[in-house]
Amino acid sequence: MRSKKFILLVVFLVLLLLSQIPFAYRRYKLRRLNAAVQQLNSQRVVPERHNGFVDYKGVVHVHSFLGGHSSGTFSEIISAAQANQLQFVVMTEHTEKDFDTAAMTLSGMHGGVLFLNGNEVSAANGDRFLALPREILIAAYPEEFKSLEITSVEGIEIYNVFTNAKQINPVVAFFDVLWSRRSYPELIFALYLQRPDENLKKWDQALATSRLTATAGNDAHANIGVSLKDSSGKTLLGIQLDPYETSFRLVRLHVLLEQDKPLDTPALLDAITAGHCFIGFDFLGDSSGFSFDAENNEERKTQGDEIFLKNETRLRVQVPVSSRIVLFKDGAVFVDESGISAKELAITERGVYRVEVYLPQLGNLVATKPWIISNPIYVR
Ligand SMILES: [Zn+2]
Repeated sequence: MRSKKFILLVVFLVLLLLSQIPFAYRRYKLRRLNAAVQQLNSQRVVPERHNGFVDYKGVVHVHSFLGGHSSGTFSEIISAAQANQLQFVVMTEHTEKDFDTAAMTLSGMHGGVLFLNGNEVSAANGDRFLALPREILIAAYPEEFKSLEITSVEGIEIYNVFTNAKQINPVVAFFDVLWSRRSYPELIFALYLQRPDENLKKWDQALATSRLTATAGNDAHANIGVSLKDSSGKTLLGIQLDPYETSFRLVRLHVLLEQDKPLDTPALLDAITAGHCFIGFDFLGDSSGFSFDAENNEERKTQGDEIFLKNETRLRVQVPVSSRIVLFKDGAVFVDESGISAKELAITERGVYRVEVYLPQLGNLVATKPWIISNPIYVR
């Protein structure tokens, strides 16, 4: 009887050990990815040819203790922004019945970081929006939208960290965290990162009739010991995977301001409304310095802008490292080239053009996941 128990115990231990092999291998893949990301960052060359815009990096869609779903403090958020060298943070507090959480949250300059104070609001039909100052609305969680009234919003959150995190198998995540989180706190997300195919399709369709800025949401709640909640606040995993500092490293909005313009609240809101911004999954490499511009013989425009089709209308993409550059026209792949850091091409057709950039040199873990998603240039 005793020896039977012993055998069962041995079998259990052997199975447990075997079950850990994939996680050890995933940790090994992260180690290789880490080396590749470091090499990539050391190879960065910010393109010399200047388009007259300066790149400011920040995060959008952040919650504090105010809206009830989080216990994150203002100090934690400010320190996390500083540790990430962010220049701005867009707060989007959940609403409360008896007080104005947008009025109470961080706003203006704090510790050298510009804060915008907004809310995350729900419509009667359950559709959710990020409401920024000046009544600028961004459609949040577009995959859940019942009626995407594109005309009433300025932007669409095509990527959201929590929406992505909801796809993670909690058991897999549990062992990944045990094996890899200490060494690779943000890189671990590379195991789960997904291109937001459906939302990109929705956005492409909407762009046929409207101008619409794409943003990415960190949806950071950072609850000590709770964390990884889904968008409705339900806890998915009882391990902290998203302290603000880690969340702010995953994905960022890079906002482009004209060279002589200081970063302040009106300038930031203007840039977001105009689509003068792009999404960078900066945990795979610093995307600062990416540009997507257009020019004809009369004017020069950047992402978010409209330009008229004339003779000599050209698009130009510049990336700080060698990449795979995919140019879309009206939602379909138009150019797809690898191993280049710049692409210039003459345009002969009107349409909505946008860019995705990939880093195949980082290995198969992330080769098909976008590093940069630009805003469109509308060739009219
Ligand atoms: Zn949220």
